[in-house]
Amino acid sequence: MNKILIAGPCSAESPEQMMHSAAMISLINDKAILRAGCWKPRTNPGGFEGYGVAALKWLQHAAGNYHLDWMTECGTAQHAEEIHRHDGNQLWIGARTTGDPFAVEEIARALEGTSIGVWIKNPPQPDLKLWLGAAERMTKRGIEVKGYIHRGFKTWPSTQLRNEPLWPLVRELKKEIGDVPIICDPSHMAGRKELVGKIAINSAHMGSDGWMIEMHPDVSCALTDKEQQLSPVELLELWNKLEHSSEANEIQILRNEIDELDVLFWNILRERYKRTNEIGDLKSRESISVVQHERMREVRKNFIRLAANTGISSAAAGKLFRVVHEESVRMQEKVHPHGIRLTNA
Ligand code: PEP
Ligand code: MN
Repeated sequence: MNKILIAGPCSAESPEQMMHSAAMISLINDKAILRAGCWKPRTNPGGFEGYGVAALKWLQHAAGNYHLDWMTECGTAQHAEEIHRHDGNQLWIGARTTGDPFAVEEIARALEGTSIGVWIKNPPQPDLKLWLGAAERMTKRGIEVKGYIHRGFKTWPSTQLRNEPLWPLVRELKKEIGDVPIICDPSHMAGRKELVGKIAINSAHMGSDGWMIEMHPDVSCALTDKEQQLSPVELLELWNKLEHSSEANEIQILRNEIDELDVLFWNILRERYKRTNEIGDLKSRESISVVQHERMREVRKNFIRLAANTGISSAAAGKLFRVVHEESVRMQEKVHPHGIRLTNA
């Protein structure tokens, strides 16, 4: 299958910006689909919410001028109607909308009877049923699902990425949908342009069928997602690499998933030690000894109990506890006055 490229600015900002974007995209790949947001879902009120129908006209005109297909994000039935009125033949459902079955149903109803194809971004939470459910609402009304867009998931604790990829979930999705393409949106995963290329190439190894990548012809003026949009030259260089990238073998895919899980593991550990240090401060202030034997036994027991559900032996859980606990003691001794371990009262 030829790799799919959907690219363009986060938001349609002016006729010139769209024309410039279309010119660059058509040079990079004349089969690419030009993207731009006309209605922007903002997490907090007060931000730039897109130029709406005016933006749709700039997008349509610029794409037509360079013989490109185009698409924008659809969040409501009214958006769907406007896209139809402007002869759009595809659109994408954004992450927040995919997570809202009422909104998806209304959009599906508005699209029924048209030939508009739909791309579906993953919902913000890692819920495969919700992702598939949005697609099902479309197909039930005879609307073609052109593909799925993996744009990553918010995690707590947060990591250096805006949204973490979740490859095991994508693997599950693939099993459910057969040959329908799953593409990757490294821009919204990265949140910073320095990381976009690395994530995109990694996704190529993970078998991505294509990419949605944000590109702005003059990123210093971008009204949304300024930090993550590539310049046209950066996109050209990345696309040259992606187009010829190869898929990893099964072992490499699993190793890649382990690397991702390790990121989450270490972020959880970081949060755990933050609390350890806070407790260290309190113990120091209240002159309580660092090692509390009863609490230590309780945590150890917890470790072993939790390990029992994972197939990890209690001996291994005990060892892990020792390592984690010794490090906690070391950290708390650092914040304790005089750096000494007080004896247990
Ligand atoms: C976007 O593609 O500009 C966008 C808002 O994406 P998401 O729905 O993934 O946040
Ligand atoms: Mn964006």
